[in-house]
Amino acid sequence: MRTASKSFRSDTGSVAAKVLAQIQAVGSTSTTSNTWLWGWANESLPTSVTARICEVRDFGNSEALAKLTEPKLPDQEYLGWELTAIAAQIIGAKGAYRCPGERGFLYLLYTDLAFANSSGVPSESTTAEREGINCETHGSGQKAFICQHLLLDPRQEWFSDLPSPTKPWPDAWCSECNKFYQAQGEWNDENEDQIEIKLICNRCYESLRTNATRDKPS
Ligand SMILES: [Zn+2]
Ligand SMILES: [Zn+2]
Repeated sequence: MRTASKSFRSDTGSVAAKVLAQIQAVGSTSTTSNTWLWGWANESLPTSVTARICEVRDFGNSEALAKLTEPKLPDQEYLGWELTAIAAQIIGAKGAYRCPGERGFLYLLYTDLAFANSSGVPSESTTAEREGINCETHGSGQKAFICQHLLLDPRQEWFSDLPSPTKPWPDAWCSECNKFYQAQGEWNDENEDQIEIKLICNRCYESLRTNATRDKPS
């Protein structure tokens, strides 16, 4: 199964809080054709990331649920999330994420999540995540990472994972930096060097993010 690692490294090159996730691609929404396409029907996806999604189709077959068995459906804005939630329930996923793209969204499920230590080995500990930072404005707080552009001008579109209990201040980047993200489909050694990441405190993050013109995923 494919492993996606999605987080920034700090300026010094050390891993800040890396999450290793096993992902499954539920499907995608095209905003040009206004359609939903199930992952199992999408030939451009490797079968390793859709194997579990086939279970969702099989469930649809046995329960006679057309929404789960039709490869393509007309998509209103919320169908993608609705089907992703159903798929998550059926395969017991631990989380979901919507990848913004130029012509729509790719909906992903995490089937397993683990924090990685600096050697990339999954670890139970979230110590790295909880390392503190001393902010000039707010005093001691938690670390958060955003691209330099969002720091300079937060009044724009923000791209990030969905905030979650384990990651309430997910790494965030702007639409310019998102082009590098899209090129790789994740943050990795290839594209992390192409953008400049700033370390800020969680309260700075929250107050900056309230200025976001649009949040993705919302
Ligand atoms: Zn940026
Ligand atoms: Zn601060």
